[in-house]
Amino acid sequence: MSVQKNLIQLQKKIPQEVTLVAVSKTKPIAMIEALYKVGQRVFGENKVQELTMKHESLPQDIQWHMIGHLQRNKVKYIAPFVALIHAVDTAKLLGEVSKQAVKNKRTINCLLQLKIAQEDAKYGLTEEELLDIVNQLDNFPNINIVGLMGMATFTNDVARVSTEFTKLKMLFDRLKKTSFSNKLDFTVLSMGMSADYEIAIAAGSTMVRVGSAIFGMRNY
Ligand SMILES: *Cc1c(COP(=O)(O)O)cnc(C)c1O
Repeated sequence: MSVQKNLIQLQKKIPQEVTLVAVSKTKPIAMIEALYKVGQRVFGENKVQELTMKHESLPQDIQWHMIGHLQRNKVKYIAPFVALIHAVDTAKLLGEVSKQAVKNKRTINCLLQLKIAQEDAKYGLTEEELLDIVNQLDNFPNINIVGLMGMATFTNDVARVSTEFTKLKMLFDRLKKTSFSNKLDFTVLSMGMSADYEIAIAAGSTMVRVGSAIFGMRNY
C-alpha cells in the first residue's frame, strides 16, 4: 500500500477540474517526495511550524496551502511563500495577512471560511460576518479573495453533509454573481475531505483537501 498508488486511485475518482490538495500534516518528507515524483504539486498543512519546515526541505515549485486555523501572530512565518490560506475566519486575521503581504511585496490568495457545520464547529464565519468582510475588501491591500471554504459536520448522515455543502455552494454562486462579478479568479470552492469528498464534489466543490485517504491514518 503505497502513497503513490493511493494518490493514483484517488485521482480516478476526482474530476480533472477539481484541484486535489494532498494534506500531508504529520507525515514525513519522504512520503511527500514520493507524491512529488508522480506529479503532485499542491500540498496542505495545518500547523505553521510544520508548514515552514516542509517548505524549506522540499522542492520550491510545491504550492503550499495553509488549510487549518491560523493564529495572527504566526502569519509572518508563512507570508513569504504560502500559495493559499484556506481558513480566514476573522477580519482581524485578514488584516494581519494583508499587512504581512504588503511587507513581503506580494499578494496572498485567501479563502473565507464559512461555518457550515451545525455543532462542534469551532471556527468559521457566519454568513453575516462573511458578507461584512466582503464589503470591506478595499481596506485589505495585497489580499486576493479567490473563493470560499467550509467543513461539514463529522457524521455518517450523508443528507446532512450534502445540505451543508450545498449551503456553501449557494453562497459561493451568489457572491460570484454579485460582489465578485468582476473578479475572474473568484473560482475556488474548497470543500471535501477523505470521508466526504464525493458528496462535496456532487455539491459543486472545485477543491478537495484529502489526507488520510492518501497517506493513511494519522497518529497524533
Ligand atoms: C486534516 C484536514 C483535512 C484532511 O483530513 P482527512 O480526513 O485526513 O482527509 C482537510 N481539511 C482540514 C482543514 C484539515 O485540518
